[in-house]
Amino acid sequence: MNNYKYVYFFGDGKADGTAGMKNLLGGKGANLAEMSNIGLPVPPGFTITTEVCTYYYQHERTYPEELKPQVEEAIKNVEEILGKKFADSENTLLFSVRSGARISMPGMMETVLNVGLTSDTIPGLIKQTKNERFVYDSYRRLISMYSDVVMEKAMGIRPKEGQGVRHQLERLLENVKKKNGYKNDTDLTADDLKELTEQMKLKVEEVLGEEFPDNPHDQLWGGISAVFQSWNGKRAKSYRKIEGIPEEWGTAVNVQAMVFGNTGDRSATGVAFTRDPATGENQFYGEWLINAQGEDVVAGIRTPFALNNRAKQDFNKHLPSLEEKMPEVYQKLSDIRDKLERHYKDMQDLEFTIEDGKLWMLQTRVGKRNGIAALRMAVEMQREGLIPKEDAVLRVKPSQLDELLHPMVDPKLESSHTPIGKGLPAGPGGANGKIVFTADSAEELGTKGEKVILVRDETSPEDVHGMKPAQAILTSKGGMTSHAALVARGWGKCCVVGCGDLRIDMENKKATFGDKVLKEGDWITLNGTKGLVYEGELPLVAIDPEQNEHYKQMLNWADQLRRLKVRTNTDTPADTKKALEFGAEGIGLFRIEHMFYGENSEEPLFILRKMIMSNSEKERRAVLDELFPYMKSDIKSTLSVMDGYPVTVRLLDPPLHEFVPKQASGREKLARELRIDTDELKQRFENLHESNPMMGHRGVRLGVTYPEITETQVQAILEAAAELTQEGKTVYPEIMIPVLGHVNELRHQKNIVERVYQRVLEKYNLDKLDHLVGTMIEIPRACLTADQIAEVAEFFSFGTNDLTQMGFGFSRDDIGGFLVHYLEQGILPDDPFQTIDQEGLGLLIKMGVEKGRNTDPKLKIGICGEHGGDPESVKFCHRVRMDYVSCSPFRVPIARLAAAQAAVEEAKMN
Ligand code: PEP
Ligand code: MG
Repeated sequence: MNNYKYVYFFGDGKADGTAGMKNLLGGKGANLAEMSNIGLPVPPGFTITTEVCTYYYQHERTYPEELKPQVEEAIKNVEEILGKKFADSENTLLFSVRSGARISMPGMMETVLNVGLTSDTIPGLIKQTKNERFVYDSYRRLISMYSDVVMEKAMGIRPKEGQGVRHQLERLLENVKKKNGYKNDTDLTADDLKELTEQMKLKVEEVLGEEFPDNPHDQLWGGISAVFQSWNGKRAKSYRKIEGIPEEWGTAVNVQAMVFGNTGDRSATGVAFTRDPATGENQFYGEWLINAQGEDVVAGIRTPFALNNRAKQDFNKHLPSLEEKMPEVYQKLSDIRDKLERHYKDMQDLEFTIEDGKLWMLQTRVGKRNGIAALRMAVEMQREGLIPKEDAVLRVKPSQLDELLHPMVDPKLESSHTPIGKGLPAGPGGANGKIVFTADSAEELGTKGEKVILVRDETSPEDVHGMKPAQAILTSKGGMTSHAALVARGWGKCCVVGCGDLRIDMENKKATFGDKVLKEGDWITLNGTKGLVYEGELPLVAIDPEQNEHYKQMLNWADQLRRLKVRTNTDTPADTKKALEFGAEGIGLFRIEHMFYGENSEEPLFILRKMIMSNSEKERRAVLDELFPYMKSDIKSTLSVMDGYPVTVRLLDPPLHEFVPKQASGREKLARELRIDTDELKQRFENLHESNPMMGHRGVRLGVTYPEITETQVQAILEAAAELTQEGKTVYPEIMIPVLGHVNELRHQKNIVERVYQRVLEKYNLDKLDHLVGTMIEIPRACLTADQIAEVAEFFSFGTNDLTQMGFGFSRDDIGGFLVHYLEQGILPDDPFQTIDQEGLGLLIKMGVEKGRNTDPKLKIGICGEHGGDPESVKFCHRVRMDYVSCSPFRVPIARLAAAQAAVEEAKMN
C-alpha cells in the first residue's frame, strides 16, 4: 500500500479525478474534478477519498500513514497555483472543508469555511485585502462553524435544544445588532466584528471548556476529522436509513481554497438551477446574495435576490437581479450554465461565488425536481437533441407520475406542517375531509357531497358502501394488502393504513393521535403517497394528465421500449374503462367475489349467504342456480369492455365465513329464507369457524370439496364468453384457480372446466371457444413444484400477496402492528407486501418461472399481487422474464414506465 492514492487534486484546468469517480471521490469531489477538467473556474483544492473514511472507522479513528504527506503535497500544489501560502502570516491562504458522499445528503453532514484564520494570519490578511471588516466577518463565521461542527458535534456533546454553542454564539451576534439598532448582519462594522469575535472565543471556552484553536494545521485536521465523524452523526445515520444508503459507502472530504463572497459589494454568492426545478421550463433560475458567504443563501438568514429578472417574485421584485447588477458576471454564469448542461446532459444545481467581480464555481450536481418538471425536462431535452428517448425514459421516477394521476397535498404548504400521525402509504395522492367513524355516516354525509374521511381500526367488506363516498380512508391497523389498502388502491383513492399513532374511541367518537385528541367532524388531511396525517384542512392541487403533453409523450416512448405487457386488476366495467384509458392491455385479476361487495351487491350477496348455509349438495345447487345469472351478467359486462384483450377471471377465493352477516338483522332474514330457526343457523355458522382462515378452507379447496361451486363459476364465464362471441366481440377468458399447492388440485379442477366447456359448446352450437385454464402461484410449494404444475396449467399468475404472507410468515392483515418498528430499526429495508423481497421470496418466484418454462417454454407468466404496480417489483418481473404485470388502474401508467426503464436498463447492461 506504499504509494496508494488517497488524495485527488483538482484546479487550474485539470484534475486527477473525473465525474465517473463518485464512489471514490463522492458526488461533490467528482464534479469539482470534472468542472476543472472542462476548464471552468474552480478554486483549486483536493479530495480525500471515501476509502479513507472506511479506513478511519476500521482503524479506531486513525488515518493511513500515506495520508499526511499526500495532503501536504496537495496543499503545496494549491499554494503554487494561487501564489499564496497556508498558515503564512503575510500572504495567507484559507481553506474550506466540506463533506461529499456518493449521493447528496443535503444538510446531513458538515462544512467548515475560512479554515486557517488565526491571531497570526489575521493581520496579514487584513494588510493583503485592505479589508478589516471582511477578515473579521470571516473569522466570526469560522468560530461559529468550527466550534459547532468540530468541537461540539465531533466531541459527541448533545446540548439541549437551543443551548448548542452555535445558538449561543448567534445570540451574541443578535445582541450586537440589537444594541446598535442594526437590521442585517452586513450592518456590523469592522470594530463590531472584532469585538464580537473576542466575545465568541470566550464563550466557546466557557461552553466547551476548551480554547478555540489558534493553529491553522490543527484547524484543518480538526475539520477533516469532523467531516468523517459526521458520517456517523445522528442526522446522517437516520437519513441513510430512510434513503437506504449503505453505511460502508463513507464520505469523502473536499478541501478547497477559499474564495470570498463577503469582501464587499462587488462580491456575492448564490445557487442556481440550469432549468426551473418547479416547472421544468428551460429557463435559468436561481438566487443570490451580495456580500455573503455560502450558507447565508441556504439558511434563509437574508431575503435572497433573484438571479435574473424573469425569476423575480413578489417578495424580491424590488431587489436587483444579478443580471441587472453585474451583467458581465451574469453572462459568464449563463455561458457556464449552457456548457454544463451540454456536458452533463441533465439539469444541474450549481453553487457559485463572486469575489471582487470574479466568478468561481463551487459545485455542480444533478438537480432535484418534482414530477411535472422531471417530465418536461426529459421530453424537452430529447427534443433539443441532448439525450435519446431511452435516457429520457430513465429521467422520471415512476412514482413521480403519481403527482399527475391524483390530487396531492400542496407541497408548498405541506412542508411547513408537522404530521400528527404516520402509517403506511396504501393509496396515493392527498385528501382532506371531516373525520367519520362508521361506514354508514361516511355514506350518509359523503353522498350529500360533504367531504369525509373514514377513520377506523380496520375495514371489512361490510364497510365498502362508506368507503366509496369517503375522500380517503385511514386505519390504525392493517398492512399494504389489508382490505382497506386493496380496495382504496383499486379505486385510486387516498388511503393510509396501520397508523400506529391513532387510537379510536368509538363510544365517545374520538380519535387520538399521540396526545392530540380530535372528534368526529374535525378536519384532517392525508398524504397517502407518504402515509402522513395532518390536522386541519391543507389545500390540494390537481393536474389532468391528459392535458399534459409531456406525460403523453413519455408514456408513448415507454410503450415503444417495454417488453412487459401491463394489465389491470379490476372487477367492474367502470374501473375497467378507467384502466383502458390508462393503457391497460387486459385484466390480470378479476376477483369473482367482488361482485358480492359494493354497489348493487345486496341480492347476489344474500343468495351467496344462502349458498354458504346450505347443508347438502342439492340445496347448494339450487341456490347456485339462483346465483348463476348474476355471475354471468357481471362477468359478461366486464369481458365486453375488455373487448379484444385477455381477461383472467379468478374463481372464488376467500374463506366462506367472510361473507356471513355480522349483524343480527341480517342473520334473522337469512334464517327465515332458509326456513330454519336462528339456533340452527348459529350452529351452521359455528361449523364454519376456522382457527386460521388464511390457511383454511379457501381457494381451490372450496372447489375440491364443493365441485358444484367451480362448475357454476366456469359455466358463467364460458357462457358469457360464448354470448359475446356470438355478438361479434373478441374475448379471451382465462380461468384461474387460486391458492394451489399441488398439481393434483389443478387436475381435479381442470376436469370440471373441461366438462363444462363441452356443455357450453353444445349449448351455443360452437366448435370452439378460446380460453385458458391456469393457476395462481401463491403458495411456496407451488413454486417448488412449478414444473409439475406447468404440465397442467396453461398460464401462471404469481399471487405475491399470499406468497409473501406464506413465504415470510407475516399475516397480511396484521403486519401493520409491527412493520413500522421493523422499518424504523432497519431490520427490513421495505415493506415486503409493497416491494417484492427480491433476495428471499424473489428466489421462489425465479424458481417458479424457470421450472414452469422448463416444462413449457411458451408458458404465459404474469403477476397479479399488489407488487405488480410497484416500480422496483415491476423491474424484477422484467428481469425474471415474466410476460406481464397486473395492477390497479391508477398504477397502470406507473407500471408502463417502470417496465420501459427495466428494458432500457437491461439493454445498457449488455
Ligand atoms: C395474491 O395473493 O397475490 C392475490 C392477488 O390474491 P388475493 O390478494 O386476492 O389473495
Ligand atoms: Mg391470494
